[in-house]
Amino acid sequence: MSTNYDCIILGGGPAGSAAGALLAQGGMSVCIIEKETFPRFHIGESLLPAGNETLRRMGVWESIEQTDFITKQGAEFTYGSGDNCVHIAFRDGLIDGLDSTRQVRRAEFDQILLEKARGSGCDLCQPARVTAAEQTDQGWNIKLSQGSETEQLNATWFLDAGGRGRFLGSRLKLLTTDVPLPKRFAVFSRFRGVKRREGDRAGNIIVIRILDGWFWSIPVSESETSVGLVCTRKYLNGGNQEEIFYEAVSSNPFMKNWMADAKSVEPFRTESDYSYIHERFAGERWFLLGDAAGFIDPVFSSGVYLALKSAEAAADSILAARDRGVLSKAEQTAFTQNARASMKTMEQLVCSFYHPKDFSVFMHPRNVFSVVSAINSIVAGRSDLNFQLWWRFLFFRTLCRINRLVPLAPRLQLD
Ligand SMILES: Cc1cc2nc3c(=O)[nH]c(=O)nc-3n(C[C@H](O)[C@H](O)[C@H](O)COP(=O)(O)OP(=O)(O)OC[C@H]3O[C@@H](n4cnc5c(N)ncnc54)[C@H](O)[C@@H]3O)c2cc1C
Repeated sequence: MSTNYDCIILGGGPAGSAAGALLAQGGMSVCIIEKETFPRFHIGESLLPAGNETLRRMGVWESIEQTDFITKQGAEFTYGSGDNCVHIAFRDGLIDGLDSTRQVRRAEFDQILLEKARGSGCDLCQPARVTAAEQTDQGWNIKLSQGSETEQLNATWFLDAGGRGRFLGSRLKLLTTDVPLPKRFAVFSRFRGVKRREGDRAGNIIVIRILDGWFWSIPVSESETSVGLVCTRKYLNGGNQEEIFYEAVSSNPFMKNWMADAKSVEPFRTESDYSYIHERFAGERWFLLGDAAGFIDPVFSSGVYLALKSAEAAADSILAARDRGVLSKAEQTAFTQNARASMKTMEQLVCSFYHPKDFSVFMHPRNVFSVVSAINSIVAGRSDLNFQLWWRFLFFRTLCRINRLVPLAPRLQLD
């Protein structure tokens, strides 16, 4: 294995593997450093159709189609008893080609992507942890530890795809903007015996809004369903996580029925306090990809999609700047602005979801000027808004604002 590369990528999750595969396919020498041995558990099982393009471009979509991952054709949103349910069937969206994707078990999905990166020509250090990154005149000097051994590698470009550890962002002391929402935590497990929709809806994610948060129900195989609760810390109230989860299930009529025969097949896990966005995502010879750049509440399942898109954009920027070996200020700004705009769209959607009055507009859809079809396409992942989506999304948010003052949609009883 070499010690000099064009690109070193920290992290072999979806962002790292996608960037690695595309850069290696473009003729760059790439080393991916991943601290975990795969397959390993990771949360984030519900993909968005708009991410399929990047998976196709990597050349990995066929392998995904050959798995038993469940086909996801839509997303459903409900609350209380579940009688009022908004069903977003992706095929009804304003933008063509976003009809479906898959619900994935991330241990297997991430391994398929990392194998693709390796098969495309990337070197892989695994399990190995990046411990230090130093900028030099020519690029980067990266230190990694592999068991008791330490090693040093050099590269022109350094890409942080290490997730919410924010390795490079914290070392470069980049500012973060907080997403204007209270801190939340998630508690989740996999279950057998959770009810299922039928027909085209069987693979849908179902999001169940409760007073201070929401549940997800994601079918991850024929028999198993991932179910999680996301809520504010005030739910904690001294109880343990499993108790909090079951207490919230029994307080919600839809969930009580949906989970009546459910048994968990894995220990419960938790994730906490997670939303932030860095002020910059790129510099002269570095990029922040996926969660390393920013993380938004997962209610619209946007994480993997945003990770794949930022990886693709970074790979294109590096390939375009390959002869110069450096990004211009304008290129750095463009990269940040484009990735940020997509994140901001998702953030605005998330904020509408959490505001009870905005949520009541969302839950009483009227397809005036095809606004509902536009929201459908954004929920399918088209967060890089073209004009036809942009003005309709603005219209939707304006309706929400008016509804905060004058009731346009009936108020909802969420508890
Ligand atoms: C509760 C919850 C539910 C979610 N649900 C969804 C969902 O349904 N759909 C969805 O799309 N997203 C979801 N997400 C978000 C999703 O998990 C992430 O957005 C996605 O995994 C980001 O991919 P990534 O490649 O940026 O980072 P990651 O997938 O986190 O990959 C980072 C990799 O870097 C490695 N690494 C870290 N530090 C180092 C180091 N120093 N050296 C070497 N390797 C290192 C890690 O081991 C890891 O493998 C959810 C998140 C949470 C918290």
